[in-house]
Amino acid sequence: MHRAIISGNAVPHYSSAMHWIDVGTNLTHDSFDRDRSAVIERARGQRVLQMIVTGASVAGSVAAVELARLHPGTLFATAGVHPHHAAQLGVSDLAALRALLTRPEVVAAGECGLDYHRDLSPRELQLRAFEWQLRLAADTGKPVFLHQRDAHQDFLAVLREHRRTLTAAVAHCFTAGERELEDYLALGLSIGITGWLCDERRGAHLHALLPRIPAARLLLETDAPYLLPRDLRPKPKSRRNEPMYLPHVAAALAAARSETLEQCAAYTSANARAFFALPAPLS
Ligand SMILES: [Zn+2]
Repeated sequence: MHRAIISGNAVPHYSSAMHWIDVGTNLTHDSFDRDRSAVIERARGQRVLQMIVTGASVAGSVAAVELARLHPGTLFATAGVHPHHAAQLGVSDLAALRALLTRPEVVAAGECGLDYHRDLSPRELQLRAFEWQLRLAADTGKPVFLHQRDAHQDFLAVLREHRRTLTAAVAHCFTAGERELEDYLALGLSIGITGWLCDERRGAHLHALLPRIPAARLLLETDAPYLLPRDLRPKPKSRRNEPMYLPHVAAALAAARSETLEQCAAYTSANARAFFALPAPLS
C-alpha cells in the first residue's frame, strides 16, 4: 500500500518550487563516460538540482573534484577511500587526501567505513583507513559520508570513539535493521535512503522503520549507477541508475512516512543543504 500517495507508476508531477538533492551519485563511473552531461541535464529536468559525486579512492576523489569544477553550483564532491580500497591507502596518501578536503568543491570526507561483507581489503587495514579519514574529517571540519556492511560492531566502536570530533556524519545507503538504526540515531547520524527501498524482496523491512526516523535526519541518494529502483516502470533498457530517478525513491520514502512529495522534498533538500553546507541551487 506504500504507493497510495502517487498515482500509477509515472514520474510524479510536482510544482516548480520543489527540488531534490542527490547526496550520493558515482558520476565518475565509466558507465557515464558516453553521456555524463546528458545525465546531469536529465536530472536537472526532474528538479534534481544538486548532486554530490562520491569519491571512493584518492584518484577517484580527484576525478570527482574535477567533475564538480565543471558544474559549479550543481555538482559537489566527497574525498575519501572506500573500505574496498583501504589496502591501497598509505600514510603517504594522507597529505593528498587532506588537500582535497580543503577544496571548496569538497563537501564531505568519505566514502569511508568498513565492509566485512566482501572483505576486499584486510580488516585491520580497513580499520586503519577508517580512523585516518575520521581524523582528517575532524581536522578539516568536514562531515563524513559513511559506508558499513556486515561490520556493525566494529563500525560502532570506532564511531563512538570519534563522534564528538565530527561535525556531522551520514550512514549512506542504509539497508540494515532496527538495532543498527537505533544505534545510528543515538550517535546523531543522518540516514541516507536509496532505491533499496523500492526492492520488494530486499527492502520491505525498511518501510516499517522509516516513520521512526526524525525528518531532520533523512537524506536521499540514488547511488547511481548502482541500485536502479527495481519497481521503475517502464524499466530502463540499461540497468544503469541515474540521479534523475531520485524523485522515484523519494515517492517511496514519502509514502512509507505518509507524507506528501512536497513535504519530503522540502525537508530532505533542507537537510542536505545544511549537512553539506551547500549554496542555494541554480534553478
Ligand atoms: Zn557505499
